[in-house]
Amino acid sequence: MSVEILVIDDNPTNLKLVSELLEFEGHMILKAEDAEEAQVVLARTLPELILMDIALPGMDGLTFTRKLKADERTRHIPIVALTAFAMKGDDQKAFDAGCDGYITKPIDTRKLPEQVAEWLAKEGPKP
Ligand SMILES: [Mg+2]
Repeated sequence: MSVEILVIDDNPTNLKLVSELLEFEGHMILKAEDAEEAQVVLARTLPELILMDIALPGMDGLTFTRKLKADERTRHIPIVALTAFAMKGDDQKAFDAGCDGYITKPIDTRKLPEQVAEWLAKEGPKP
């Protein structure tokens, strides 16, 4: 299944790594380095999945997730948090903000395509 996925990460190396891994799986990757750029992308297209870095300059990923989940137009898009904060309780913070899942950084390059495939296989409410 080839779908559009929006990857939001302010770290260019990480953004490139994640994008290339998922492009290799045949997906179309939309990239943004912050919430502002992501909003421009989302204004013209609605991806099937969003991978959201939590530590972003400007609006952080949790705040941005709350915003997207409060918006009729974007609330159905699953959001998977990408975060280096592999601390106890941070997964709960991501879920509380409305994230549907959680992937810890550093990214496991062998596992990521599988983790994303699992997300895409999940039935969510469609618009
Ligand atoms: Mg970051």
